[in-house]
Amino acid sequence: GGTIGVLGGGQLGRMLALAGRAMGYRFVTLDPTPDAPCGQVADRQITAAYHDIEAARALANDSDVITYEFENVDADVTELLMKESYVPQGSRLLYTTQHRLREKRAIEAAGVKVAPYAEIASAAELLEAVKRFGTPCVLKTSTGGYDGKGQWVIRSLDEVDEAYETLSRAKTELVLEQFIHFEKEISVIAARSPRGEVKAFPAAENIHVNNILHLSIVPARTPKSIQLEAERLAVRIAESMGVIGLIAVEMFLTPEGELFVNELAPRPHNSGHYTMEACKTSQFEQHVRAICNLPLGSTELLTPVVMGNVLGQHVEPLLDWIVQPESERQADGVTAKVHLYGKHEAKHNRKMGHVNVLAGTAEQALQWIEASNIWKASE
Ligand code: ATP
Ligand code: MG
Ligand code: MG
Repeated sequence: GGTIGVLGGGQLGRMLALAGRAMGYRFVTLDPTPDAPCGQVADRQITAAYHDIEAARALANDSDVITYEFENVDADVTELLMKESYVPQGSRLLYTTQHRLREKRAIEAAGVKVAPYAEIASAAELLEAVKRFGTPCVLKTSTGGYDGKGQWVIRSLDEVDEAYETLSRAKTELVLEQFIHFEKEISVIAARSPRGEVKAFPAAENIHVNNILHLSIVPARTPKSIQLEAERLAVRIAESMGVIGLIAVEMFLTPEGELFVNELAPRPHNSGHYTMEACKTSQFEQHVRAICNLPLGSTELLTPVVMGNVLGQHVEPLLDWIVQPESERQADGVTAKVHLYGKHEAKHNRKMGHVNVLAGTAEQALQWIEASNIWKASE
């Protein structure tokens, strides 16, 4: 037993709380939005800004263990939480993963490859680096980016000044990356506990639409040796960084079979939602196990699966589908499990839920998704 405090009240916190409650833990969450997805299922929600020190103190007072569901936690808040409660993941993991340059250095220190990159401090430096890397290349802000926001794919030298001017408004270091002409994007989520036990979930193949995750396919449609290598890299990063809890590792797979790590997330990850029905242990249960220093659960894959994200524009067709009789909803040997996050407004491209499609093969699950009306809406 005990109470787990979660900084952030979104869907990741919600699914963490649902998994942790089944294990007998109580939950308290801090989020600025009343009735946030996690707050709805937690024992208590503290409604305040994430950087509100008094609210953080209240969270610490109520919690035996504290975790977070996003990485942009204020350093002062982290410090206070560590002083007044127990934050098994520590502050270093956040410090590293909040900043692309620090993150890349940590990945390299683990002996794992990232795309060639350069720190950029002026338009002149950017021009020089773009000439060196060639176009296309990708300029990114070091902090605060998500869903492709805070980045610019530079396709010609003419764009250099505009790209620099636009992204430097974010007032953070900029980093230029060589463009990786990847064949697939893959991610692996690994967990490590304070006693040093490490386990990786099976690699997922990720399909993005408009920089937002659309599908995660498991097993990934790559040779088994690549999947195992991706899982080994994630374990190596978790060990080298001394991660506690989950670390999600996003990678590019090149046509030559090389893996480059794109970025990390020290938390449950959208591409790991497939584990909820398809693995012996879900990523959320695993995170609770890791931060509570319980033995980690088996990450064995029970069935092929494709996870489809339900964005705002997919909610209506999903609800139309859900009210059909079972016989019309299911194909032979396919089971579709729906998860909705309790968000009130179905805005375009907002993550509202996801569907795990379990089937005899990933191809069969993909065919089911292709044939269903749920994702036909404009993307
Ligand atoms: P997330 O929502 O995953 O946190 P983000 O805004 O942090 O996204 P990245 O994951 O760095 O951004 O990049 C978004 C997408 O842009 C990647 O999934 C990939 O498809 C593409 N991309 C990013 N960097 C590169 C690169 N160096 N070469 C090729 N494609 C890239
Ligand atoms: Mg990111
Ligand atoms: Mg990413």
